[in-house]
Amino acid sequence: NEALSRAESLIRTIPDYPEAGVLFRDITPLLADAAALRTVIHALVEPFAGEFHVVAGVEARGFLLAGAVAMDAGAGLVPIRKAGKLPRPAASVDYALEYGTATIEAHDDIRDGMRVLLVDDVLATGGTLVAAHALVERLGGTVVGTAVLMELEALGGRTLVGDVHAVFTA
Ligand code: IMP
Repeated sequence: NEALSRAESLIRTIPDYPEAGVLFRDITPLLADAAALRTVIHALVEPFAGEFHVVAGVEARGFLLAGAVAMDAGAGLVPIRKAGKLPRPAASVDYALEYGTATIEAHDDIRDGMRVLLVDDVLATGGTLVAAHALVERLGGTVVGTAVLMELEALGGRTLVGDVHAVFTA
């Protein structure tokens, strides 16, 4: 697919960011291109069309995609935020980072029986999306799918997260 290949070519790879040895995938040039943005939003939604009530986007780059995905699909939007950012979090989940731990939280706008599509920009080790999945379930929601723009295959996140729809793989 030509439009998808063109969109992929707009993802910029930045060596040694945020630290030495890391190859950072920067999606901002893709987001800035109207045609590429539309193409990838459609591609994120496509396998799950009609199957979900809300899109849950993971802070912060997941938000950039989740809002557009929600509008495209006619669904609502729920932010999954880092600890301390939401005024009335209803659930929180701790997870391990390379150094230390992190916590994510969400409001009770996800309720019993709600069908949720999880969205983030990049799947790396998978820790973030596993925690987001647990958070949705803690609130009574059902994760109908997990969609990312790019999967970094070598980091093995898929073995933790399970079935993930990745628009691009690197
Ligand atoms: P994981 O928990 O190791 O899978 O890391 C995924 C989280 O880190 C996602 O929320 C991403 O936004 C972020 N992340 C990891 N690597 C990259 C990258 O190369 N580019 C952009 N975000 C990244």
